[in-house]
Amino acid sequence: MPKVIIAGAGLVGALNACFFARKGWEVEVYEFRKDIRQMEHVQGRSINLALSYRGKCALEAVGLKDYIVDQGVEMHSRLIHDIDGKTMHRQPYGQPGEHIVSINRRHLNEVMITEAEKHPQVTFFFEHKVIKADVNKGKLTVQHNDTYVDVVGDLILACDGAYSAVRRSLMATPLFDFSQEYIAHGYVELNILPQNNEYAFEPNVFHLWPRGDFTLIALANRDKTFTVTIFAPYETFEKEMYDSESVVAFFKRMFPDAFAFLGAEHIEETFNRIKPLPLVSIKCSPHAFNGKVILMGDAAHAMVPFYGQGMNCGFEDCLVLSDTLDEYNDDIETAITTYSTNRVRDAHVINDLAMYNYNELKDLVNKTSYKMRKKLDLWLNSWFPKKWIPLYSMVTFTRIPYHEVVERRAAQDNFLKKTAIAAMLLVVLGAVRCTLKVQRLK
Ligand code: FAD
Repeated sequence: MPKVIIAGAGLVGALNACFFARKGWEVEVYEFRKDIRQMEHVQGRSINLALSYRGKCALEAVGLKDYIVDQGVEMHSRLIHDIDGKTMHRQPYGQPGEHIVSINRRHLNEVMITEAEKHPQVTFFFEHKVIKADVNKGKLTVQHNDTYVDVVGDLILACDGAYSAVRRSLMATPLFDFSQEYIAHGYVELNILPQNNEYAFEPNVFHLWPRGDFTLIALANRDKTFTVTIFAPYETFEKEMYDSESVVAFFKRMFPDAFAFLGAEHIEETFNRIKPLPLVSIKCSPHAFNGKVILMGDAAHAMVPFYGQGMNCGFEDCLVLSDTLDEYNDDIETAITTYSTNRVRDAHVINDLAMYNYNELKDLVNKTSYKMRKKLDLWLNSWFPKKWIPLYSMVTFTRIPYHEVVERRAAQDNFLKKTAIAAMLLVVLGAVRCTLKVQRLK
């Protein structure tokens, strides 16, 4: 049986281990951290994540979808909180029943590692740090304590995240394009505890406090807490949230209803303990090298989190790779070259869409034109469910390739523009006809 070496046992690495285990391949996973199942606290990014259709399909293929979804909290719409702390309005995500699911990152990761380990030919090596890759030899150099070992396989999957060591080794590869952009905004995570053993806010919605240049979001967890995240320009953190007093005053003024549950003490303690974390967007091409190595997940396409697609796209990577290998009867070289050609295009598109969606989350959702377009899209979708699918729904509730999503959206925009022009012409023609008639009667 062929052997796959996976760098990183995060979300994408662990899911890939499940996929290759089911194919019967020999699987070795090298993970820098300790086994998270034995850790009390896991440091890292967002506590919970929004799982949507692409991610669900990938989990379904390894038999984990139902179990994972059952552990989550469904979110059916956005609930937008006004600055007065009282008024709220709801924007459904799609048609009735369409929803995304808030999932605990750590639990998801643990479940996938345990699932992969059920297969005897799968081995996880924790506290093993990948140092570099040799693409020509299909080899990784791995450090454990003070020992360095070389590991080889028929295929190497770099799932070692946005700061991938494998990708770093590839930087000098001819024709390898790479770009990285840190946005001027950072984020801080806070927590709302249960109130009298109940959720502080309605749980089955995505709570949003859009304030123009910055925004606060809250996603419910199964333990009746909310994970709350503020995204803001670093400049705003520095000017408005520079000490305990200013940060408390800022939250009280900007998010009064959230402040009531967060509490001054928790806000102060959090901001004293942690600094805003950066958000990076990475594009590269190709994703496959020398018929042996593939970059996947954040290692290939880290994106800003505003479309909730980073993990979902990474999970879809695993599914697409698995299907492509099946299609080419495990002819690794042809399969991964084909995979890369198709996936690079889609990764670039979702990266751009994620960047665009920040405007939506912090500002556009409050604009009348945005709300009208959203309503029109959903209304047309209810009449023509196959032909007219809103942009958000195509990304979140279908597996239409991301590049096709933007093409379809451009066609929809074009159609609406032409319809508006035709309607205006009809009005003008009607007015001219009426005027002529009136003049004739005179
Ligand atoms: P990672 O999760 O970063 O895993 C990489 C793994 O590799 C880690 O375990 C790491 O320890 C290990 N590693 C790193 N270097 C080495 C090395 N040298 N050797 C060995 N191991 C190594 N996505 C969504 O779909 N929905 C959301 O709602 C969502 N919300 C988000 C909110 C925030 C604030 C952020 C920052 C991201 C969010 N994302 C979301 C994106 C999502 O977190 C990532 O896309 C996802 O974690 C990528 O998984 P990955 O396995 O590729 O990388």
